[in-house]
Amino acid sequence: MSTNGKVTIEPGKVVTVHYTLKNGEGEVLDSSAGSEPLEYLHGADNIVPGLENALAGRVVGDHVEVTVPPEEGYGEREEVDLQAVPRGAFPQDEELFPGAEFVTEDEEGQPMPVWVHSVEDEVVMLDLNHPLAGETLHFAVDVVNIRDASTEELEHGHPHGAGAHDDEA
Ligand code: ZN
Repeated sequence: MSTNGKVTIEPGKVVTVHYTLKNGEGEVLDSSAGSEPLEYLHGADNIVPGLENALAGRVVGDHVEVTVPPEEGYGEREEVDLQAVPRGAFPQDEELFPGAEFVTEDEEGQPMPVWVHSVEDEVVMLDLNHPLAGETLHFAVDVVNIRDASTEELEHGHPHGAGAHDDEA
């Protein structure tokens, strides 16, 4: 699909963007400014739905600003207790900091993401909510590049950048 001969963002494209993310109070939460841009595979749930939808059909050079409510972002915050896990349950060289993401298993053995809430002397407090759950997100995005995903990238469901890639997915 193309508009005036330009490649547009659609499923199966690897898209490179620079972005700045602010919360409802206008505080910058995350930004690629001054560092590497973000690459993602469109249509593969690599980014939150509200942002992915706003980028569909865009072309290189577009500047996109979008406000994403929690239900199209990282979800509503659920009222669940933090889980205390002994520090020893984590590998010694694991970097533990607030917001660090880990994947554990739920009662059915399905992968379940959890996030470090805080680190105490003996225990790590884990939160089942994404750190940005419940937040209204303001994204300002510049589309830098759009290319076809490789077969392998489509199979994996994410882009393979210049760096080595060692997942077996
Ligand atoms: Zn991969």
